[in-house]
Amino acid sequence: MPQTLVLNATYEPLGVVSERRALILVLNQRATTIEDSDTVLHYSGGEITLPAVIKLVKFVRIPYRHAVPLSRRALFARDGGRCVYCTAPATSIDHVIPRSRGGAHNWENVVSACHKCNHQKADRTLKEIGWKLKTLPREPAGAAWRILGTGKPDTRWITYLRPFGAEHGVA
Ligand SMILES: [Zn+2]
Repeated sequence: MPQTLVLNATYEPLGVVSERRALILVLNQRATTIEDSDTVLHYSGGEITLPAVIKLVKFVRIPYRHAVPLSRRALFARDGGRCVYCTAPATSIDHVIPRSRGGAHNWENVVSACHKCNHQKADRTLKEIGWKLKTLPREPAGAAWRILGTGKPDTRWITYLRPFGAEHGVA
C-alpha cells in the first residue's frame, strides 16, 4: 500500500502513514500537502490526488526517540551500499566480530559487505585476517533513519530526508 511521508511543522521527518490516512489529516486541516503522489482517488463528486509528502500544521513534540531498527536496507544505506572492505556493491551483512565468536547483532558490529569478502573473512576477526575498518560501525543518527528502517522510501521523499541524515538511503 502506498505510503505518505509525514513531516513535523519544522519539516523534520516524523514517519510514514498510509496515503488515505494522510489525506484524512489534510482534509481535517491538521496537515498540508507538500508533494502529490501518483494515486488519484475517485469519488462521486470528483477526484483527488493523494499526498506523497505532508507537513503537520502544528508542531508535535516527540518525547521519546525509538532506536533505529537494524535492517538490511538501513545497513546498506548507512554504508553507502558498498562493501566496507573493498567498496564492491554490498550484497550481504558481515558481523565484524563473528556471531560464532560471540559477536552481537547490533549496529556497532554489523557492516555491509560483498559476498566475496564475507566468504573470505568467514568466522575470523579483523585482527586475525589483517583487515581494518576505515570507520567504526555506529547506529545511524537522524530522524530519517527511522523511516528508512520501516517504510519503503518514495523518490519524492529524498529532498525531505536528506537534511536529516539519509545520504544514501533513497535513490
Ligand atoms: Zn568486498
